[in-house]
Parts: sequence; C-alpha cells; structure tokens
Amino acid sequence: MTEDKTINKVKIPEVITVGDFAHRLSLPVAKVVAELMKNGVMATINELIDFETAAIIGEYLGYQVEKEEKKEGAKQPIAVPSGKLEVRPPIIAVLGHVDHGKTSLLDAIRETNVVARESGGITQHIGAYQIERKNRAITFLDTPGHAAFEKMREHGAQLTDIVILIIAADDGVRPQTIEAINHAKKANTPIVVVITKIDKPEADANRVLQQIAEIGLVPEEWGGKTPIAKVSAKTKEGVDDLLDLLLLVSDLDEFMADPKSAAVGVVIESNLDRGKGPVATILIKNGTLALGDYVSVGETYGKVRSMEDYTGKKIKEAEPSMPVQISGLKVVPQVADLLQGFSSEREAKAESQNSLRSKGIHKLANIKKLGLEELSVSMAKRGQKELSLVLKADVKGSLEAVKESLNNLGDQEVTANIISEGIGNITENDISMAKASGGLVIGFNVTMPNQVEQLSKREKVTVSIYKIIYELLDDIKAALSDMLEPEIHEIVVGQLEILKVFVKGKGKMVVGGKVKSGKIEKNLPIKVTRENKEITRGASVVKVKKEKDEVKEVVVGGECGIELDRELEITEGDVVEEYRVEKIKRTL
Ligand code: GDP
Repeated sequence: MTEDKTINKVKIPEVITVGDFAHRLSLPVAKVVAELMKNGVMATINELIDFETAAIIGEYLGYQVEKEEKKEGAKQPIAVPSGKLEVRPPIIAVLGHVDHGKTSLLDAIRETNVVARESGGITQHIGAYQIERKNRAITFLDTPGHAAFEKMREHGAQLTDIVILIIAADDGVRPQTIEAINHAKKANTPIVVVITKIDKPEADANRVLQQIAEIGLVPEEWGGKTPIAKVSAKTKEGVDDLLDLLLLVSDLDEFMADPKSAAVGVVIESNLDRGKGPVATILIKNGTLALGDYVSVGETYGKVRSMEDYTGKKIKEAEPSMPVQISGLKVVPQVADLLQGFSSEREAKAESQNSLRSKGIHKLANIKKLGLEELSVSMAKRGQKELSLVLKADVKGSLEAVKESLNNLGDQEVTANIISEGIGNITENDISMAKASGGLVIGFNVTMPNQVEQLSKREKVTVSIYKIIYELLDDIKAALSDMLEPEIHEIVVGQLEILKVFVKGKGKMVVGGKVKSGKIEKNLPIKVTRENKEITRGASVVKVKKEKDEVKEVVVGGECGIELDRELEITEGDVVEEYRVEKIKRTL
C-alpha cells in the first residue's frame, strides 16, 4: 500500500481551508468534511485546518500530504544549516512524569559541572545552562525553557537535540512518561532514558527496563537501541556517566552549525525588565550573535544592546547552542519566537513585519486541529478514563495556568484531557468539539454569547464558566472523582459453622449449621472458609430454614439450614460467611 508510485502526493501550507484542501486532493468537499468528522474535527468548507490534521486525513483518503515550502524571502531558520559546518554542543531537554526528579537532576548536573563556577554564584536564573565535560560543552534546557520546547513542538520544529526521559526507579512508567515519549518521537529526537532515584531502597531499575521495553524502548543492555543511564540526583551517583553517555549520543548524530553565518535562535523566555526594557533569553541554534547585531525576534526587532550568558556575565558574542539573555528589542517577544540576525535595521524590521502578518493568520483563525497527541497518548494510557475538556480563557497567561493545573489533577485511572484550547469567548465550534468527544466546555474569565448558550442546551453540552481558578479545579476534580471506580468493601453479616451437608446436586445445595456470629439472612452472597482461609465463593443464600419453617433470619447462637443457588465445595467443619458488598465512592 505504501508503494511510492501509487500514492498521490499533494503539497499544502501550514494551514489551509477545508475547501482548498479538498480542491488540492481533487475530492468533493463533502467527502473531506465527512472524513474530518469521522476523526472528531468539525470543520466546514471555509474553516482552517492545520497541516498535521490535513496530513492524517489526507492519508486516510489515499494521499501523501507534504508541507509546501515557504515562499521566497522566508528563510528556513531551523532547517539544516549550510556553509562551513562545525560540531556544536548538543541541546538537551529533560522530560518525564511530575515528581520523577527532573528539577533535581538538572540541579545536580548544574551543581557539579557548571562552566563558570568562579563567577560568585549564578546571579540570574535563565531558562537554560551549559556545563563542561571533557572539554566539551553540553546545553541543558532548564525547566523554564520547557515551555518553549513545547511550543516549538506544536509547530513541528525542534528545539532540542536529545531528550532525556526521566523515570523514577521507585515509580516506573507513568502517564506523563508516555506523553514525553510521544513528544520526542514526534519531533524525531533521540531519547536517552534516565532511571533516577536509584538510591532509594524501593528502587527497582529492572522493572523500569521491563516497562520501557514493553512500550518499544528496548534498552541497549538488552540488545535494543535505547541508551540508559541510572542516576541518583541525591548522591550524584551516575551523573557523570550520564554526561558521558550524552556526549556519546551526540557523537553519533553530530549536531552541526555554521558559526560564521547570521544568528538564528529561539526565545526560551522573555520579560520586561525595569532597567533594561524588553529582555529575552535566546538559545542560539545557528550562527553567531554579536553585541550590536540587528535582529528580528518574532513580531518585534531591535539591536542587541546587552548580552549576558546564563551566569549573568556580560559577553560580546554567543555561538551555536549557547543560551544568552539579550536586551535592545522594541517589544517583549513571545516564547518560541524565532530570532534572526540581519546586517541592517531595515531588514530586521521588514522580517518582523512579515512574521506579524503570517502570525496574524494563526491568531485570527480558528484553526481546527485533530488531537493527534491526545489520540496517541490516550491509546497509550490503556484503561485510563479521560474527561475531555474544551478550554477557553481570556488571556494566554491564565490559559497556561489553568492547563498546567488541570494536567496535575488526574491519576493513573482518570485524567483530564484538553482536546481543544483557545483564547476568547465560547463559540459554537467549542460546543461541537465538546459534543463530538463527549466532553465539557470550561471557560475562565470569558463569556458565552446567547446563541452559543442555546446551542449548548440543544446539544446537551455542559458549559461551566469560572472566575476563580480554585473553583474550576475543584469542580473538575469532583468530576474526575466521579469517574473513579468505587472501592469495593465486603462486610461480613454473619458466620455459619457447618454441621451437616443435607443436599448437594442439580444446581442447588442445602447445608445446616450454627450461627457463630452476626446473623444469617436470605438473598446475600456467601464465601466458604476452611481454617480461616477462603476456599470458594460464588453462591447466594436463597432460603433460610429453622426446623421445617422458612424464616427471614437466624441470629448468633441459633441453628438453621440454608439453601444455596449453586453447588459449592462445602464440608462439615467449614464456615460459611455471608457478606454484603459496599461500594465506597473514591476521591482524587
Ligand atoms: P520534578 O517534578 O520531576 O521536577 O521532580 P523533583 O526534582 O522536584 O523531585 C521530586 C521529589 O523527588 C523531590 O522530593 C526530590 O527531592 C526527590 N528526588 C529527586 N531525585 C531524587 C533522587 O535521585 N533520589 C532521591 N532519594 N530523591 C530524589
């Protein structure tokens, strides 16, 4: 089926209307709309879909969809650099389940290996740092830098060269571990698995190896391809070995850059500084950035007025893979924005305006997206129940904050899955999305126009709007708790010591005995114990008889006969325990 010649190839841009997409596939719009709907994307002819969605839908329809190259003028900044290439330090991100020790590992590496330890302490914490090992530098994206990593990944671009997948030896593979694997795989980034917390008595590194092998990351030590390091951030055991391993993996891939070319970098954090104005931390991906360079950064531009390394030391030049903080921009840029160096202010300004225009499309358009990530993650989390949410918030900051908190709410059994998110009031599309996934719409500091409210009522989609984040979280937590399977408790109602087996056969059984504790009544299940151990169960009491008469119950001290609805292995001397099942609601 994947014979290249027989596949129709089409090229499409990063975003495309459904109508244009159908036109390029030479298919009726209705067919494309139907295929989208089958996959949970409600989009009509004039609505936009993103490339990834189009690629998947195209494949289902028998096409191979490729990304159209950007038109003239646009550079290909993160693409393979050309010119005279030199090896540059690898850029590493640390991903993994919450509390598995990402921060601790990053701290342990920094404490033992920072390049400029003499600088009297790190004055400024920026979103990335560099260490030196065997005279070679390695760049680590620190936790603040992860936001940029995520954003870039959304756009299909790569910020890091190697992903460290951290798994705590005492906890094993968890939902976010799988999510991280999916991220890395999607970005085609090599993964090094780091089993951490090996100092803990309950650590079981072998179990982790087993688990990752089961999900396709077969450890090198088992003949597979996944490099593994075992470390303790607490005792620092294995940290140096890990660094050596990272150098080894980099040698295989040889991450290259041309230090002589104009700088290209990515914003990993930004803010407005009182003294300096807009400042941004840039991770240089290619070329060299020098003090005084003209740069465009996303939708803004400027001249690099000051530049500091991650320790806060003033520097004049930054080479590939270096994280630096710069000032001199007109406006605070956004995380994941691209920096490009130019020889004149005019060019830098033109590029920023270009970027403003093309970004405008993304901002204004309501781009439909197939939750690919969600799809694969949810498949990976087999057995985990999900509460699908469409999330809307007033501003980016609150959206991120709500998302972050929601992500931390679930457990192995239930989780909140944000299938769509956006800034602005609740729209009809949000209702359709929630309807298609059987989920809820959650708004934070937004409103719902009348006609949308009416649609939500017609479609029976629950929309909840909040002004206080804790109330939002409490409600979602309660909803998730409701999805948890209840805890099952067996309450022993009474015990009957068996003195005689009267009848056994033809699917029923009558036994008699003395009530040792509690009482024996009809219509409850029983289990049979012998020498205090359960030996069988699976029958219920259908009749309780005293002498010849059927009675409701017989209490402790009395003798009775009971009829069971099934034959079980019961002999004289066994104790039949009658019990009641209680389901206890669980909470997260
Ligand atoms: P993160 O959420 O992945 O960034 O995890 P943290 O680095 O904050 O670590 C979570 C908890 O695990 C903290 O209490 C750490 O002290 C602890 N921890 C992290 N690494 C280790 C380790 O190697 N050994 C032990 N014993 N505890 C660790």
